[in-house]
This record gives sequence, structure tokens and C-alpha cells, in this order.
Amino acid sequence: MKDNVTRKANINKEGIEITAKAINEGLINNKVYCKYCGKLIDSDSKYCTVCGREQ
Ligand SMILES: [Zn+2]
Repeated sequence: MKDNVTRKANINKEGIEITAKAINEGLINNKVYCKYCGKLIDSDSKYCTVCGREQ
């Protein structure tokens, strides 16, 4: 039981860190996830800056 609690806490912590990182990098507004690679890119970008695929 203790292991389950620890694992759950770690997952939550990871999620919080990802959200916090996104806020720090200013990625909350005007950003979308690339359809192909799933990375955050500018919503007005025609091409993904990471994988180069057309959006
Ligand atoms: Zn991409």
C-alpha cells in the first residue's frame, strides 16, 4: 500500500513540474501541441519548429 501511495505522489509531482515549467517558459497562451511530434509550438506557426511538419 505504501508503494502505491509513493508512486501516485511521484506522478502528481511530475505533472506539477511539467505545468510549472510550461508557465515559466510562457507556454500557456498562444501555444498548441504539434499534431505529429506533440511538442509545444506557437499556435500561428505553419510548421512545427521541432519536427518541421506542416500544421
Ligand atoms: Zn512537430
